[in-house]
Amino acid sequence: AKGKCRGSLQFFAEHMNQQLLIRKQLEGDLRRAIPEGQLELEFQPQVNLTSGKMVGVEALLRWNHPTKGRVPPDQFVHLAEETGLIIPIGDWVIRQACAQASDWPELKFAVNVSPIQFRQGNIIETVRSALDTEGIDPNRLEIEITEGILLQNTEETIAILSELKAMGVRIAMDDFGTGYSSLNYLRRIEFDKIKIDQSFIAGLGRSTEADCIIQAVIDLGASLGMTSNAEGVETLAQARKLKQQGCKEVQGYFFGRPMPSTSIQELLVDHDWMMLAAD
Ligand code: C2E
Ligand code: CA
Ligand code: CA
Ligand code: CA
Repeated sequence: AKGKCRGSLQFFAEHMNQQLLIRKQLEGDLRRAIPEGQLELEFQPQVNLTSGKMVGVEALLRWNHPTKGRVPPDQFVHLAEETGLIIPIGDWVIRQACAQASDWPELKFAVNVSPIQFRQGNIIETVRSALDTEGIDPNRLEIEITEGILLQNTEETIAILSELKAMGVRIAMDDFGTGYSSLNYLRRIEFDKIKIDQSFIAGLGRSTEADCIIQAVIDLGASLGMTSNAEGVETLAQARKLKQQGCKEVQGYFFGRPMPSTSIQELLVDHDWMMLAAD
């Protein structure tokens, strides 16, 4: 058996070295992404189910890598968090989203913020100065957080969230239902909005269980004074069902994929989803 494995440790070590190199390379690339203007925001419409109108957008980060092309956030946000690069990147996202939103006074806008930025960054100052610079009403900004935010420094995190809320900024709970302690988290933080994870929406109309869970989340949110948003809505049937269930707001491919700001501008001019309002 020993003979069979000869050389495998060396192979393993080489493999690890290779992985480390790739990672170091990507980290170096990511470090240059902001100064070289490779980061970009796309925006996904958020539609009110009562009016059938776009009421807001969620900003989603894109990296246009010089050789790899467009790298999706799932492939670099984690690395950015591990290396601390998420702090300058996250600051850039907030400032860029505010700069863009200043052109869309009729829309609310949502920004995803990493737990690392809450713990190590200076989020309050970043948000305050970005809103000031662009002259934006803090009520239009919504910060989306996931339960990872409560894993460490809970009291400090809650204090920062309270300060943001005192400024008028809204807080949304992202990916509700996917973590271990969504309910506990709901108890600790006064959210303005609860975003039902797209994995539940995918089961809508297919299983009684999925329908009942979504109904329960919408009702729970309503009883706590929170708006509900359903993510990953891909069909008109799903949107109609969600409307019947009392969901306030939706986003998903049916209404629009994340898109460049110019496309949002076009939707603002003459678009709505009146087939929903009619129901
Ligand atoms: P998320 O915040 O849950 O964002 C929703 C993701 O679902 C987005 O993927 C969006 O493109 C996708 N999506 C929207 N509608 C549909 C649909 O109808 N069907 C399906 N299958 N997918 C849909 P994206 O843009 O690749 O972002 C992935 C994740 O990366 C985000 O999940 C968020 O956690 C993170 N992320 C994105 N931008 C930022 C950012 O600026 N900062 C931080 N910290 N994280 C970000
Ligand atoms: Ca502007
Ligand atoms: Ca989000
Ligand atoms: Ca989400």
